[in-house]
Amino acid sequence: MIYLDNAATTRPDPQVTEIMAGVMENFWGNPSSVHDPGTEAKAIVDESRKTIAQLLGCHADEIIFTSGGTEAINLIFYNIALNSNIHHIITSTLEHPAVLHSIDHYGLSEKTEFVDILPDATPDLRHLESLLSAKPGAFVSLMHINNECGSIADIAGIAELCNRYGALLFCDTVQSIGKTQVDFSMSNIDFAACSAHKFHGPRGIGFLFKRRKHLFTPQAVGGGQESGLRSGTENTAAIAGMCKALEIAVEQFTLTKSRIGEMKTKLIALLQNSVPDIQFVGNTDQTIPHIISIAIPDTEENSMLTERLNTEGFAVSAGSACHATTKRSTLLSTIGLTGYFPLRVSFGRFTTSKEMEEFAKAFSELLQKS
Ligand code: PLP
Repeated sequence: MIYLDNAATTRPDPQVTEIMAGVMENFWGNPSSVHDPGTEAKAIVDESRKTIAQLLGCHADEIIFTSGGTEAINLIFYNIALNSNIHHIITSTLEHPAVLHSIDHYGLSEKTEFVDILPDATPDLRHLESLLSAKPGAFVSLMHINNECGSIADIAGIAELCNRYGALLFCDTVQSIGKTQVDFSMSNIDFAACSAHKFHGPRGIGFLFKRRKHLFTPQAVGGGQESGLRSGTENTAAIAGMCKALEIAVEQFTLTKSRIGEMKTKLIALLQNSVPDIQFVGNTDQTIPHIISIAIPDTEENSMLTERLNTEGFAVSAGSACHATTKRSTLLSTIGLTGYFPLRVSFGRFTTSKEMEEFAKAFSELLQKS
């Protein structure tokens, strides 16, 4: 099977599984215990937190380990709902369901407005400014990299606007941390979310980034771990695995970016040569190299394309993994591509050029048969 669904999840790096196995075998003590096995496990949790914070330009106590992006996002919205100073929420219809469902779940729908989306699938900053200036002191939730098409939002510009109008900013960095440089010291992001399985780390671990000045109330109470914000015995092995995955990702950023960038350019060229009128979603010159989204005409035969590709030995996705079963895409209708569904091809560090070329061949043959 050729795996081209790395925006859904990635294969753990062998160095990550090795570290995790070592921690599980040798450091399985409870990090809250005061004896040696406990303090040794705690040292791993603390060191990992410190390293992650250094890699992302923040303080160690601004990193709160969670089970992943969804939990971090829920903790943020739970606290926004408790914050009586927030009367206005600005987000976009393209956000991950963890954001959009949190808005409903925590009773925030009536306070929420949606920023316009430009044809390149990024938020319209002029519209954002008009929303912010009409109601200063808002809470803004916008993703950095879009999980369906890889478009990159101008987060520095968004952070600057939020700062100017006294708004808090949550940036969903689940698709960007580990794939592109994220430096919290360089921007006015108040909160962010991370998920290790998107960058060759383990599933079920991630974190919330929250600036020190923001005081949160926990959802899960108990033993008071994670500065009281997320009780429950820490998953030491997963935390160490996530830290290793981030270290490798950061070390290899430049190399991975140029190698994957070349594969993306080549795949686009191959498909343009073999599939007449092929349409890509977003501005492919400006999307992250890891994600290529193709707009597929919504015909009966094409509706089974991902399944047919699976039978041929290619794992790709119809848009995001969360919408994989319905194949409906808010993104395409939002940017005016009606009558299409998205087919997302996403590369990871282990994808080879040969795999990409085999996909291009199989995909164009299947489309010609449709
Ligand atoms: N936000 C974005 C943009 C995502 O792509 C995802 C996962 O697909 C999430 C949040 C949720 O992360 P997790 O799978 O760690 O819960």
